[in-house]
Order: sequence, then C-alpha cells, then structure tokens
Amino acid sequence: MPLAVLERAQRDMLDWNGSGASVMEQSHRGKRFGELAAQTEADLRQLMAIPDDYAVLFLQGGATQHFAQIPMNLAAADGSADYLITGHWGEKAASEAAPYVRVNVAASSKAQNYLRMPPREEWQLDPNAAYVHYTSNETIHGVEYHDIPDVGDVPLVADMSSNILSEPIDVSRFGLIYAGAQKNIGPAGFVVMVMRRDLLQRATRPMARILRYAEHAAAGSMLNTPNTWGWYITGLTLQWLKEQGGLAAMAERNRVKAETLYRAIDGSGGYYRNPVDVAARSRMNVPFTLHDSTLDAVFLQESEAAGLMALKGHKALGGMRASLYNAVPPEAVEALTGFMQDFAKRHG
Ligand SMILES: *Cc1c(COP(=O)(O)O)cnc(C)c1O
Repeated sequence: MPLAVLERAQRDMLDWNGSGASVMEQSHRGKRFGELAAQTEADLRQLMAIPDDYAVLFLQGGATQHFAQIPMNLAAADGSADYLITGHWGEKAASEAAPYVRVNVAASSKAQNYLRMPPREEWQLDPNAAYVHYTSNETIHGVEYHDIPDVGDVPLVADMSSNILSEPIDVSRFGLIYAGAQKNIGPAGFVVMVMRRDLLQRATRPMARILRYAEHAAAGSMLNTPNTWGWYITGLTLQWLKEQGGLAAMAERNRVKAETLYRAIDGSGGYYRNPVDVAARSRMNVPFTLHDSTLDAVFLQESEAAGLMALKGHKALGGMRASLYNAVPPEAVEALTGFMQDFAKRHG
C-alpha cells in the first residue's frame, strides 16, 4: 500500500469526511458513501480511460471466486471457453472454471515450467469459444504478457490481479478485466471488474441473483452490503495514482524499477539468477535464486534485518521473489539491489 494512503486512512479512522465516524460505520445507502462510490468509479474510468460501453463493478470474493463466476456468467451451460495458461493462477482459473464450462487449454507453457510464453503460432483458439481467459501477469512465476493477445472476435477475459493499474492499457480490446485488489489496489477480498456491457446479457443458466454480474451492474454494485472499507481504500489509492501522474507515469516508474532489479540479477555473474525468458519477464514480480540455495535462509534473515520485507519466494518455486507493485518506491528497489550486491561480496 502507498504510505500516503495508509496515513490518510489513519487520519480518517475516527472521523471520515466530517461525519464523526469511521467509513466502516457509514450506511452504504447514505449520501456520503454514495459520493465516495461514484468518485471511485469516475477515478477508475479516468485512470484507465474506460469507454462508456463498459460497466465498472466493485465486487467481493477475491479473484478466485470469479474464476468460477466468470464462466457461469459468460458461457452457456453447454458452452466452452479457451484458457491460455502461463503459470499458477491460470491453472487455478481453469480448474475452478471446469465445473461450469468445457475448458479448452488453448495454450500452456507448463511443460516449459512456465519460464516462457507459449508461442502464438501454437495456440489452438476456438472461434466458437464463449471467451478466452488469460492471466496478464503470473504473480508467482514472474511471467507477464507485454502486449494484449489478439484473439479475434471472441471476448478476451483478463485476470489482472497483479498488474492492473501498472501501465495504460487499451480497455476496448477486452471483454472483461478483473482483479483481486490486494496486489496493486487495496484490501484483500475486494474485486475490481470492468466488463463490456453487452456481455452482461450472456448469463442464461439459472443462478442466484448474487452471482449474476448483470444484477450487480443494475444495482451499482450494491446488491447487498458492499465491502465499504475496500471501496474506500481503493478510492484513496486511485487518488494517489492520479497525484503520481496517472498510469503513464506509473508505467515509466515501474519500468525503471524492474530494469534496476533485473540488471542487478543479470550483472551478478551468476550469483543471482532469474530463469524466465527475457521477453516474458514480469515488471511486477521478480523471482530469483541464489547460486547456493543453502544461503537462502541467511539472505532472508539479513534482508529482513535491513528492512527489506516479503522476499521469500512462493512455496511452489522456492528461492526469493521481489514484488514491485505500484506502491513500491524506486528507492526501495535501489535499497534491495544495494543489499544484494553487498550480500554477494560478503558471502561470495
Ligand atoms: C493473488 C492472485 C489471485 C488470487 O486472488 P484471491 O483474491 O486470493 O482470490 C488470482 N490471480 C492472480 C494473478 C493473483 O496474483
């Protein structure tokens, strides 16, 4: 989280917006919260340049719930959907979708240990698929698409949980964009979704209203009590992004941060290694290993003592992983690369 957002939330905690109470104690039907909700949507629309024919939804359940809810809403009960799988989260999205749609794995780099993108000429896209799902940034494997896959007229669905708002994108290329908030926006459990309005009519199978995106859209994402705290923090993060100069400025900042870290890894003479194909490397999540894994524990202990947090790699991969989300300032990346160089000298 950006420090400025946390400090603002701290100041607002007991008296939000002159109300004499915290935002969590406000009615979501009240005027004050209504204004916050509208401003948050307006800010997201401005930052991402979202066209009018797209609905913006603020939902719950984390990205994982929508792995299941997306096929329920976008595919007929006997329909199929294409999945491009480039890491852990794409795999999970496909397996959670499987009870609701015939999943066609149109491409996968699993056999290459998710170290590179599956070559486009090998993708087996079905022109009759209800949608094509992909994960724009694989958080654990550190693999990112650097362009938007061209899938013709089939609606493109993107799990952008770990790189949403990190750079400008052309929203009109997508049918649906969704993101669990906790990586690059705000509190866990909150979900931001941008959906082409015509797709809201795709949900034909019987399901509870609470699962139907069209109902959420019609109710301004207040079909039931929304996660008001998540909505509020998201609003503060969007304001902060606007103050930083918007997504073009974030993209440049994120590019420099990633370059700094990859240069330190690649320039370490093999002391540190990132095995991902250079063309597919993530700007957001950088997994790396030490040349001698028996030093991992020492590295983590010393880095934490130096104030560098959360560097332990995901249990699926081991090693280290540095996440360079929007909220991570460039100085933090310089502190990390300085530490890495110093560590290599001392433990060479
Ligand atoms: C973290 C993450 C998820 C899972 O999010 P939850 O909110 O925990 O369900 C899904 N996709 C990606 C790309 C992620 O990084």
